[in-house]
Amino acid sequence: MAQAPVTSIFMHGRPVDILRLELAQPALQGNKYYKLKYNLEHMRAAGYHALMTFGGVFSNHIHATAIACKNAGIQGIAVLRGEDDPGNPTLQFIRAQGMETLFINREKYRLRNMTSFVEELSSTYGNVYVLPEGGTNALAVKGCSEILEGRVQDYDHIFCAVGTGGTISGIISTPGLKAEVTGIAVLKGEKDTLTPYVNSLIGDVHIPWRINFDHHFGGYAKFNPALMDYIEKFTSTHQIKPDPVYTAKVFYAVDDMISKNKIPEGQRILCIHTGGLQGWDGWHYRFKKQDTSAAS
Ligand SMILES: *Cc1c(COP(=O)(O)O)cnc(C)c1O
Repeated sequence: MAQAPVTSIFMHGRPVDILRLELAQPALQGNKYYKLKYNLEHMRAAGYHALMTFGGVFSNHIHATAIACKNAGIQGIAVLRGEDDPGNPTLQFIRAQGMETLFINREKYRLRNMTSFVEELSSTYGNVYVLPEGGTNALAVKGCSEILEGRVQDYDHIFCAVGTGGTISGIISTPGLKAEVTGIAVLKGEKDTLTPYVNSLIGDVHIPWRINFDHHFGGYAKFNPALMDYIEKFTSTHQIKPDPVYTAKVFYAVDDMISKNKIPEGQRILCIHTGGLQGWDGWHYRFKKQDTSAAS
């Protein structure tokens, strides 16, 4: 794939580069292209004809996987947390790609990583490749270790959003990278599980990295007026549109850290725009009664 462009902006007078994965693959949602790349290659080589994966009903991962399956001529099956809703734009989209949908309640969804449960779900589909929630596995990490290709020497401090932790694991594992890596967690309460999980995915890597849990705004897809104002200003000032669930919190966090002098002077900073713009459709659908018009 062609290298994603970088846009240079300023935050409080400090230069900050934004890696524009949202431009490189607008349909495949930025980081999701990299997470799926080697999984699809493996599926093809091993002769699987169907892919089953897990997520929420507005999930960027499910959206991207639906496109990838259609492109590859594979039957996609989405196991979704919650209930069907014909008005949901993400569900409408994935069905239009030919993806099958299977809804399970929250209780059952907790079993999503249990082998016996997954086998039970997938048994009716025959030879089906199972991709965990968010698409995170070793092959996804391998794909994400290519996100910084060609830019490995260019930065001292790299910031990205953390959901399941697959993307940051790939960034940390980038061959030859010497930079510091900070992930901004977009979920609350994952403090005790995410760091050991990322450790298990990266293996023997010795660059400084951490996950920051101070900027999730109350949890996954939670927001407040300050975040919505920030998105509006950021979009109009820089002509770069963040997504509301992941990258908005990263840009906000880096801006905040710079303003509080928490990033050492002189460090060359890169923020990764991991995509997720399809999330706006679901966002407006869910929150249409609240005022998110500022970010439309
Ligand atoms: C899925 C997603 C992430 C999180 O990636 P993980 O590998 O799950 O940590 C970050 N940003 C965007 C826009 C996403 O869609």
